[in-house]
Amino acid sequence: MQISESKRLFAHAKNFIPGGVNSPVRAFRAVGGEPIFIQKANGAYLYDEDGNSYIELINSWGPMILGHNHPMIRESVIQAMENGTSFGAPTAREVEIAELIVSMVPSVEKVRMVNSGTEATMSAIRVARGYTGRDKFIKMEGHYHGHGDSFLISAGSGAITMGNPDSPGVTVGTAKDTLLAPYNDLQAIETLVAANKGEIAALILEPVPGNMGLCLPNPGYLQGLREICTREGIVLIFDEVMTGFRLAKGGAQELFGVTPDMTTLGKIIGGGMPVGAYGGKKEIMEFVSPAGPVYQAGTLSGNPIAMAAGLTMLNYLNTHPEVYTRLNEIGMQLASGIASINHRLGHDFTLNQLGSMYSLFFTEESVVDFETAKKSDTALFGKYFQGMLKRGVYLAPSQFESLFLSTALTDDLIAQILQAHEESMKEILG
Ligand code: PLP
Repeated sequence: MQISESKRLFAHAKNFIPGGVNSPVRAFRAVGGEPIFIQKANGAYLYDEDGNSYIELINSWGPMILGHNHPMIRESVIQAMENGTSFGAPTAREVEIAELIVSMVPSVEKVRMVNSGTEATMSAIRVARGYTGRDKFIKMEGHYHGHGDSFLISAGSGAITMGNPDSPGVTVGTAKDTLLAPYNDLQAIETLVAANKGEIAALILEPVPGNMGLCLPNPGYLQGLREICTREGIVLIFDEVMTGFRLAKGGAQELFGVTPDMTTLGKIIGGGMPVGAYGGKKEIMEFVSPAGPVYQAGTLSGNPIAMAAGLTMLNYLNTHPEVYTRLNEIGMQLASGIASINHRLGHDFTLNQLGSMYSLFFTEESVVDFETAKKSDTALFGKYFQGMLKRGVYLAPSQFESLFLSTALTDDLIAQILQAHEESMKEILG
């Protein structure tokens, strides 16, 4: 595979952009080699600056659930652009998308739009603190909630990939209010709650974490968290930036039948434009300015172009349940195909899958939390990543990520991915 133009751009970029990229994991440091510079994307494919094409299994880290450059989304953006790109004043479309989100996501009675998942989680914690009058919150080891200071403590995703789950620049004062617990361990939560009685404002987690690679909640775990939070007056926040509108139209909370007090959203909600949102019970959301005293604002929040893309996406998902049926089929086809190839080759690596999300871990131990995820052979993952890339399949460039499938994957493409998988496994494991 010839990537000379990507190499040239990367070398040049490093002169002007820290590490040559605008988000760390894009630099491919965890998998070796150099990042591919993308020129365009369409349907199931990415196209790079050297004219190579790749079947997409990451889809802009989740948003492109219908594949890239979907005509319906593209048209809505072009149409919205005719009327100007930003007003900094309320629009009808914002009301429409808010009403739609409230109708789709069980926990959301009121919602505020922001520009990223990071903004959504930072704001949700602030609101939970304002609402409860408490300072501390519980976060799960290996979960990622964006790059807000108080979340960069045992953080997953790019933070663990880059080897800095606890970032310099976060003060000791900030870090002391973030309490850590292992995922899938209710007793650990009981212990933390008992040791910090009446001091915990919120418990935030990815209900189905994707940022340490995909892990699934043990049966009863999410219900157990719900019960503890209700008993202790702790605001339960589901960070559904990844899982929202993906695992079901109402996200993981719909799928598992557990309703948090607040929910953070991102990715799919913007149809590929920079959007996030946080919402929840009316009583809590009424604390948000200007209804209440907790300040949160944004020059470009509710941007008309972004709202047009998001609204088109959500309206489609809301009215086409077959999308989720198909995504589940695609997820199962890939997962069972990969597992059976691995078994045949004598390597029963752990594969976690739910709907259109999956992670292949290079360990044979089951992966249920951060500790077990870290048992993966990341060097082997790097070789696998490169093997798939040169066969034209674009994976997330880190072991500690989930893949995100789109409806653009046809049966034929799935067969090609499985063939690339088999060849790559044979190449790296002999
Ligand atoms: N929360 C979760 C669960 C995420 O996966 C991410 C990003 O991947 C974020 C929050 C942060 O979102 P953003 O990158 O849009 O700031």
